[in-house]
Amino acid sequence: MIAVLKSDVTDEQIQSLTGWFEEQGLQVHISKGEFQTIVGLIGDTSRIDGDLVESLDMVESVKRISEPFKKANRKFHPEDSEISVGNTKIGAGNFAVIAGPCSVESEEQIIAVAESVKASGATLLRGGAFKPRTSPYDFQGLHEEGIKLLLKAKQATGLPIVTEIMSITHLPLFDDVDVIQVGARNMQNFELLKELGKLNKPILLKRGLSSTLKELLMSAEYIMAAGNENVILCERGIRTFETYTRNTLDLSAVPMLKELSHLPVIVDPSHATGLARLVKPMALAAAACGADGLMIEVHNNPQKALCDGAQSLTPEQFSDVMKNVEQILKVVR
Ligand code: PEP
Ligand code: MN
Repeated sequence: MIAVLKSDVTDEQIQSLTGWFEEQGLQVHISKGEFQTIVGLIGDTSRIDGDLVESLDMVESVKRISEPFKKANRKFHPEDSEISVGNTKIGAGNFAVIAGPCSVESEEQIIAVAESVKASGATLLRGGAFKPRTSPYDFQGLHEEGIKLLLKAKQATGLPIVTEIMSITHLPLFDDVDVIQVGARNMQNFELLKELGKLNKPILLKRGLSSTLKELLMSAEYIMAAGNENVILCERGIRTFETYTRNTLDLSAVPMLKELSHLPVIVDPSHATGLARLVKPMALAAAACGADGLMIEVHNNPQKALCDGAQSLTPEQFSDVMKNVEQILKVVR
């Protein structure tokens, strides 16, 4: 349930209303916008008399929220969320580009890629240290050493770093990581989500291979319900019957998620298509349909990449994509 308050409401009035709801065992979420304040109620609101709340002097209107996600719901928080990472921001008009190799392979590789993507305008550096591979015989990532190399690349370029966590037991290794990525395969690892909800750092949550948008939002809700509201959603393609592409990029997810939620939504055209030549058109389409950013795999030598070479752009190709994305953003914003 949400209560939209009248514009002249005072802080004391908000406090007394909050106290009254809390006494009834509800959790209260206040969203103070430029023009209105919204009080969101979480918990069993079935015993709350909506008409009574609406009759209060300070209340303009009351609405029941039917969706199971509350904190992630735009009705609770009408303005776009803006997530800060170091000196950069994601969402609410800030377009973020996360670029880098699928996996961190060596110091030379990650620093070379970091420098080149930064020069092209990337705002964050990605690189996997723990890789969720389909085969146990494939390269699994450099683990702790990979994170150390990402930190070196951060030192060299100033770019904040994004890297995937696969097990909660690895969390101490992520202390200096700027954004923790939850990969598609772990989107519904609820124990992991609950632990990440206790942190005060942004979480990049990728859509599961066969997950609905509601399931993605419920996973975001797990993180938010545990106290961490810094969640970035990522559409990365879903499983369909199509086989020419690795996955099928569901671009309609972008405007749909942005209608349902205030959280930033980014698109990963690399994992969505699996083909380097499709990354540019899909990146442009993502920018055109309102995404808050992109995640793109870039490798200094894609042919020799230990993981996902076929979908990785060269630094030159990435620079070309960035120039074109800027043009699209000028038109649509
Ligand atoms: C990745 O970003 O490296 C990755 C493994 O992506 P996904 O979880 O979307 O497959
Ligand atoms: Mn990859």
